[in-house]
Amino acid sequence: MSSAFVDSVMSTVTSRNPAEPEFLQAVREVAESIEPVVARRPEISRLKIVERIVEPERQIMFRVPWVNDRGEIQVNRGFRVQFNSAIGPYKGGLRLHPSVNLGIIKFLGFEQTFKNALTTTPIGGSKGGSDFDPKGKSDMEVMHFCQSFMNELYRHIGPDTDVPAGDIGVGGREIGFLFGQYKKITNSFTGVLTGKGLSYGGSLARTEATGYGLVYFTTRMLADRKTDWKGKRVVISGSGNVAIYAAQKVASLGGKVVAMSDSNGYIVDEEGIALDVVKRIKEVERGRIKEYLGACPKAAYKDGCDGIWTVPCQVALPCATQNELNGKSAATLVKNGCIAAAEGANMPTTPEGVKIFHDAGVSFGPAKAANAGGVATSALEMSQNSMRQSWTFNEVDSKLHGIMDSIYDQCRDASDSYGLKGNLVAGANIAGFLRVSDAMIAHGVV
Ligand code: NDP
Repeated sequence: MSSAFVDSVMSTVTSRNPAEPEFLQAVREVAESIEPVVARRPEISRLKIVERIVEPERQIMFRVPWVNDRGEIQVNRGFRVQFNSAIGPYKGGLRLHPSVNLGIIKFLGFEQTFKNALTTTPIGGSKGGSDFDPKGKSDMEVMHFCQSFMNELYRHIGPDTDVPAGDIGVGGREIGFLFGQYKKITNSFTGVLTGKGLSYGGSLARTEATGYGLVYFTTRMLADRKTDWKGKRVVISGSGNVAIYAAQKVASLGGKVVAMSDSNGYIVDEEGIALDVVKRIKEVERGRIKEYLGACPKAAYKDGCDGIWTVPCQVALPCATQNELNGKSAATLVKNGCIAAAEGANMPTTPEGVKIFHDAGVSFGPAKAANAGGVATSALEMSQNSMRQSWTFNEVDSKLHGIMDSIYDQCRDASDSYGLKGNLVAGANIAGFLRVSDAMIAHGVV
């Protein structure tokens, strides 16, 4: 979709950030959605809110030198993009993956700003990470990297400034190493990171939160179609933190997860994926998904990850990475009877894919709403740290469920009030944008 408003936003953002396609893709989607808001609220143009919101408040890039097990010096690049602090301290995950670059971190930080606003908890948006690849590294190598990364990052973060968490390649092990180094350098024990272990300030249900939240959100999408999970065939890409706990919740609600993947390929198990096997391979052994066949020989394995979308299903949950579900895959899903798709990963569906789902009447849950359960529960972890309390699993899970219901309501209500009924992409962008822009207007030009 093109218009004078979208063209004008994109022309400035493209000229400033020419080599950042993922960031431009994320900005375009938001710009397209908020056009009717800008038309209805003239102060947004007068106060240049859109021009300000697409520019990160601060971008930090730094050298991360460390020594591997063979005594060789390695040099990685670290990033932290503090995008927007209008509604609270910056908050967003750290990604460790060789594909990480400034444009990817900016796209994630931009999305995070609106996602965090949708949770209605007081947190701004940021994201960070490094092109370090944890795959195949020893625990000592990962620790040395994390310590070096924190040696610079610590000056830019703090419990009331910026609170990082996990993302791709950053789980409990990495958060532990990062937290230990922050504590040592600053001589303070604070809730500066979330996703912490339970023995040092973590929250119950944080590990499960993004996957569970995704399923709570999708449950509402299905309910609007007067159906539920019972007997549904479900395909989930990825086999990391988000994918595993989405699969667990789907199975508990009566759905059957028939396929999962990693970056090498995918498994199909018509009897339903045995999640205990996937958890052992991925969480304990840090192995490859094809090892599933060793425990479940009746399953099939295929190389290449995008083939997973050819497996017939009624619900598709992309939970691996950005742009993993393109127009061709969306068309195949539609042809095979898919009625709902919801994004566990950040921006996993390309714009062509989203259009195909919308045109075909498939219910589509965008990432910034559907996967907001992780950061919402991180905000609950921050609350528990501030209060020096810990809530039970059920308390946290029930708050998470309430937050996901509220996010769904906000998206549906915003899309309805702008005449875009059923378009949850527009609803999420509008509701998130309004919350951030109202705070920016209140703060003046800062
Ligand atoms: P993990 O590192 O735990 O798992 C990532 C999974 O995705 C792995 O199975 C990985 O396979 C696969 N994957 C990674 N890169 C690619 C690629 N280029 N192509 C195909 N598959 C790939 O990460 P998470 O589960 O935490 O994150 C997954 C997604 O969810 C990301 O988009 C993240 O931003 C998003 N997200 C995560 C949240 C969280 O709380 N963890 C919160 C909100 C969003 P392999 O092992 O082979 O690399």
